[in-house]
Amino acid sequence: MTSFIPGPHLLDSPRGRDWPRLPAAPAPGREPVPPRRADVVIVGAGPAGLAVASALWHHGVRDIVVFDRGGKPCGRFFDRVDLLGQRVLRSPYEHHPGVEGYRDCELLDFARLHWGRLTPVERREVRMSQAGHRSVVPLDVFEAYCDHLVDTHRIAEKTWRDTVRDVLPAATDVTVRADRATVTARHVVLCPGEERREAPVEWWGGGAAPPGVTYWDERVPPLGGRQVVVGAGLTSAHLITNALAAGREVHWVVREPGERYQCADVNSKFFRPEGRARIGSVGWSDRLGLMAEFRRASIMFEFRPQLERAEAEGRLVVHRGDAITSVAAGAGGTAVLRLAGGRRVSGDSAVLALGTTPETGRGLLPEEVVGERDGWPELDERTLTYAYAPLVSVVGAAAGMVLGPAARNIDGHRVATARVAGAIARSLRGDAPAGTPARAKVGAGV
Ligand SMILES: Cc1cc2nc3c(=O)[nH]c(=O)nc-3n(C[C@H](O)[C@H](O)[C@H](O)COP(=O)(O)OP(=O)(O)OC[C@H]3O[C@@H](n4cnc5c(N)ncnc54)[C@H](O)[C@@H]3O)c2cc1C
Repeated sequence: MTSFIPGPHLLDSPRGRDWPRLPAAPAPGREPVPPRRADVVIVGAGPAGLAVASALWHHGVRDIVVFDRGGKPCGRFFDRVDLLGQRVLRSPYEHHPGVEGYRDCELLDFARLHWGRLTPVERREVRMSQAGHRSVVPLDVFEAYCDHLVDTHRIAEKTWRDTVRDVLPAATDVTVRADRATVTARHVVLCPGEERREAPVEWWGGGAAPPGVTYWDERVPPLGGRQVVVGAGLTSAHLITNALAAGREVHWVVREPGERYQCADVNSKFFRPEGRARIGSVGWSDRLGLMAEFRRASIMFEFRPQLERAEAEGRLVVHRGDAITSVAAGAGGTAVLRLAGGRRVSGDSAVLALGTTPETGRGLLPEEVVGERDGWPELDERTLTYAYAPLVSVVGAAAGMVLGPAARNIDGHRVATARVAGAIARSLRGDAPAGTPARAKVGAGV
C-alpha cells in the first residue's frame, strides 16, 4: 500500500497580510457599559461565541451583549496560535464559525474571493477542498474571515471587554455579573473555551513552576541551548520546530509509547453525523471511554518528516513511554525532570504542553446548576442547555459528552450553534421553551 505523507511546506503560510475589509459601518454612539437588559448574553468571543452571535443574527436576534475577557473577537485563539508560530489551521475549509444554510459567505467562498492574495500552495489547497479532499487553511485567511464575520454581523459593537464572574439563573431570566457591568438576559450562552492543563501537584508540590519551567501559552522565551518539551500534541510539535530552528538541542518527553500522527485533532468520523450518533447512542460510562480513547494528543502528518530527520541527526532526543514523576530546578537555574523509569532529563529550560481542560461553567454558575459529573456538565442533549438551568446553554469543549471529542473544535461549534441558536430563536419568538423544563435543583438556592 502506498501511504501519502503531505509535505512540511503546507505548514508555511505568510502571516500578517493586508486583507480588504468591508467599508466600516457607521459607528453607533456606544455607551461605555452595555445595556442592563438583553435578549441574549454570550460569555466569550472566541470562535464559538462568534459562531453563536453570527447564527443569532440570521435568526433575527440582534439584542445581544457579548462579554470577552480580552475584548477582541477570537483574540485568545490568535494569541495562542501566533505565540506558537502556527501558520495554518489543523481543521479544513469546511470547518468555520460562519453560518451554513443562510445567505452568507463560508470560509472556502472567502478564500476564493481573495484568490489573488493566495500563494500557489494555498491555491492548490483551495482546489483540494473544492475537490472534496482534505485541505490546509492558512491562519491568515481564517483571521480575515473571522474579521469579515464580525463586520457583517455587527459583532464588535455588541462586544464588551469584561470578565464575567457570576451567571445566576432564575425562573424567567438570567443575571450575568461582570467586573464592570451587570446584564439580565432572557438567555445566556457560555462559550468560555478551554484553559491550559496544569502540571500534576506531585511534580513540584503545586504553585508557581520552578525556575526555567514554563507553560506553552506563556510569553517567556526559552533559555539556553538545550530545551526540554513535554507533551505529545501539535503544540509540542510547534515548540520543538521553533527550538530546532533556533539551533537548540531538544529533549522531547512523551508519556505514550510513541507519538501519533493524524490529519485532524480527532478521528474524522467524529466530525460526521455518524460519529456524533455513536456518542449519543451509548450510556455515560461508554461515552467516558470513547472520550478517553479519542481525545488523545496527536500531531499533523506534515511535521513527521522534519521531526524524524531531527531525531536521526541527534538534534532531537525523544524519551518515549515514561511518565514524569518530578520537576525541579537544578544547578544554575536548569530544569531537571525525573521519569518513572529512573531516567533524568535536564535542560536550560523546559516547556510544558499538557493540553487543555474544558471550562464547564464551574465558578460562573452555582455548583448545583453545573451538575458536574466526571468533570462534565449535565446538559440537555437536544438544546445543550444546562439540565438544571434551561435558559443557559453551552457551545464549545464543555459539550463533549453530548457531541463527542470534536465539540472543542471549530466544526463542533457549528453543530452546537445550530442547536443552541435555533432553540433560543424559537423561545424568543414564543414558539417553544429553549430547553426541557428545569429539573428540581434549579429553583433551590439560585
Ligand atoms: C494552539 C491551538 C490551536 C488550535 N487549532 C485548531 C484548529 O486548527 N482547528 C480547530 O477546529 N480547533 C483548533 N483548536 C481548538 C480551539 O481551541 C478551538 O477551536 C477554539 O479556539 C475554541 O474556541 P472557543 O470560542 O470555544 O474558545 P476560545 O478561543 O478560548 O475563546 C473563549 C473566549 O472566552 C473568554 N472567556 C473565558 N471565560 C470568560 C469570562 N469569565 N468572562 C469573559 N470572557 C471569558 C476567553 O478569554 C476567550 O477569549 C486549537 C487550539 C489551540 C490551543
